[in-house]
Amino acid sequence: MYRKLPEGLPWREALLSTLRARPGGQGYKFSCASPGHPDENPSATLTFKLAPDNRGDMALVYCHVCKGNQPTLAAHDLVPSDLFEYSKAADEPETSKPIERYHVYTDEEGRPAHRVKRNAGKTFQQSRWDQSSERWHSGLGGCKTYLYRLPSILTAVKNGQVIFVVEGEKDVETLERFDLSATCNPMGADAWRPEYSQYLAGAEVVVIADNDDPGRRHAKKVASSLLGTAKSVRVVTSLPGAKEGGDVTDYLLKNGGTIEELRRLAEEQSPFGDRDLATQETIASKSPQSWTFALSDFLDLDFPEARFLVEGVLPEGVTLLGGRAKAGKTYLLFGLSVALACDLEPFSENWDG
Ligand SMILES: [Zn+2]
Repeated sequence: MYRKLPEGLPWREALLSTLRARPGGQGYKFSCASPGHPDENPSATLTFKLAPDNRGDMALVYCHVCKGNQPTLAAHDLVPSDLFEYSKAADEPETSKPIERYHVYTDEEGRPAHRVKRNAGKTFQQSRWDQSSERWHSGLGGCKTYLYRLPSILTAVKNGQVIFVVEGEKDVETLERFDLSATCNPMGADAWRPEYSQYLAGAEVVVIADNDDPGRRHAKKVASSLLGTAKSVRVVTSLPGAKEGGDVTDYLLKNGGTIEELRRLAEEQSPFGDRDLATQETIASKSPQSWTFALSDFLDLDFPEARFLVEGVLPEGVTLLGGRAKAGKTYLLFGLSVALACDLEPFSENWDG
């Protein structure tokens, strides 16, 4: 493939640094640099989307003065194929399946921080960006991790847009194709960290669960974490037509789902709240000893009228008897048991006789 982008850097970083792009607007802003117009305030914008062939991202470059991208590309000595992460070579067979993909996570300012490489066969490799050597190193090495597409998400939150949280980068990119703001945490289900929530402070969030148990558990964990930080959280756990393990990409690209329906599904969900949290914790804790309930749930329960074996003292069912050591709890219960067995009136005169 013919490219003019400098080699050595990953595609996205090479493009960002060549254009000297800075986070702004829906993605990045930079100076058009075309001699056709002065450009003290950057006129050109750059956003990333999934390329139509699903084989990586494409960059959308647009100058708002030139009304296009040709003068901008020429001014930066780039060619159209530089705008594609992967360009199909002429002799390469048609394929809709990604062979391998890099998903780069950046910090708030759009500087690369870490990335994941998805290999054919759905295995994943993490690496981290080392600023001093300007190289990727294998593994995360305890580096600070971020939400996917963080700069655009921060802008979207500021603009009051609904943020969709999904399980993987592929789903984020699918939703971006439909002009929705979406993000995910690195390393998929069960890898959400509480510190990610701060980035979505004050946002209206819709969490879309993958259609399996780990997916639903993950979605509720994300929602719980966002409770009190986000303005509102809604969880969509059943996408129409979803097979076991299906995700929002299947829903939109294979099962005929629409953005309108997705929005409606989200609006139909009642906001995630303390009650869900209690239910969630109850489900999450496998051991009954650690079940917890929200007080509101407890107060809503209907209890049958208590029936007493010993009026005012010993109800039917499970009784908890408390008292200091050596206070006589055991003898009291022995006495009560004997009285009940012999049909004597407990605490009456002939009871302890
Ligand atoms: Zn221009």
